[in-house]
Amino acid sequence: AGFVAARLAGVAATGLVVGLFIDHVWIGICGALATYLGLQLFRLHQLDYWLRHRSLMDPPDAAGLWGDVVALVVRLYRRKKFHKQRLVEMFRELRRSTASMPDGVVTLNRENEILWFNRTAGELLGLRRRVDTGLRVGNLIRQPEFGRYLANEQYTQPVTLPPTSTEGRWLSMQLVPYGDGQKLLLVRDVTRQSQLEAMRKDFVANASHELRSPLTVVSGYLETLAADPTIDADLQHPLREMRRQAERMTGIVNDLLELSRLESDDGEVGGAPIDVAALLAVLRKDALSRPQPTSEVRVSIESDRQIIGDETQIHSAFSNLVDNAAKYTPADGRIELRWWVDDDGGHFAVTDTGIGIPSEHLPRLTERFYRVDAGRARATGGSGLGLAIVKHSLQRHGARLEIASIEGRGSTFTCHFPPRRLASVAEQRIRA
Ligand code: ADP
Repeated sequence: AGFVAARLAGVAATGLVVGLFIDHVWIGICGALATYLGLQLFRLHQLDYWLRHRSLMDPPDAAGLWGDVVALVVRLYRRKKFHKQRLVEMFRELRRSTASMPDGVVTLNRENEILWFNRTAGELLGLRRRVDTGLRVGNLIRQPEFGRYLANEQYTQPVTLPPTSTEGRWLSMQLVPYGDGQKLLLVRDVTRQSQLEAMRKDFVANASHELRSPLTVVSGYLETLAADPTIDADLQHPLREMRRQAERMTGIVNDLLELSRLESDDGEVGGAPIDVAALLAVLRKDALSRPQPTSEVRVSIESDRQIIGDETQIHSAFSNLVDNAAKYTPADGRIELRWWVDDDGGHFAVTDTGIGIPSEHLPRLTERFYRVDAGRARATGGSGLGLAIVKHSLQRHGARLEIASIEGRGSTFTCHFPPRRLASVAEQRIRA
């Protein structure tokens, strides 16, 4: 400001000198100031013109204040250009990397409309950039499994979709919510894994099936031999042991067959209402009629709602749990079977005061052939398949198994059924 004032004073003084010279002081001053103003306006116009056509022409060369302003603008412009370029580069890099990702990525907005997708997603889902952007993903991927997954809003696990045509691919889809209701849809080609899995299932099913007939024959002969009174006394013990082992093998083969039946289709089963109270009464009787029964088996029915499901599968799951409780609880222990319903759905719990399970085993307990103590389980005739069967039966009903246990104190196995698996009392009356 001081500089500008000095300039102005200088111009006025020049005007004054010129004015004195031509004898009209004010005209001289005014003329000088007007000229100065004109010059400034010209500079301003130049600057304005340059700013408007910045990309086409060089900056005007001006000295003094205008020069400073021009230099400042040039600097700001350069810096902006630099940042913009970096941002564009970063964006391109990001797009290139997501585009060449082996997994498909689709971004969806709050309404599940497609905002963007990468090349792999386009190939796997048959999406076309111009046509399908902005469309709802549920209208493009029409398999009912996906529709259910989308509606369910439970995205922790991916959903696997079977191929829609003979040479189609198995796709694993997972939604990842982010930001404000937006979602990332990750798509993976799992054809190979699915084929291997199918082969494994087939192999287990076929092998167990093939083992069944020879086993039946062996068991039959062993039975006949055991019943023969002329057999040497020395052979009695080995014969008994052979029969026991043959029985165990039959048990394992039957469990394997049941497991492969449960696995053979992934979808949920339908079914009819199951009378939980009646089922638990039967299970209680079974538990009490074991060779060395637990003395106390209590049943507590706190709801008359029924489970909608496959009676055989539910019976098999529940009886496996009750069997285990009886197997691993001493005769002076106690077992409680409890059925109750709350807002989360229906719950069936088996609590025992048995030997319990060390906590490090809990996460792996439902794996096939997993046993806490192989020696002990063998002695009790366990195959390690029981809980795998329970888990699968429950899965097919949209239910899950929860296991809590304290070593030396006892265990609680709880089956949680979602509300949609419960028949209301009114519904039961209509069916009745
Ligand atoms: P198994 O046929 O050997 O019982 P399961 O799959 O039913 O096979 O159970 C797996 C293992 O879990 C068992 O070997 C046993 O060690 C443990 N287990 C299951 N239920 C109980 C229970 N109620 N109390 C203690 N241990 C249990």
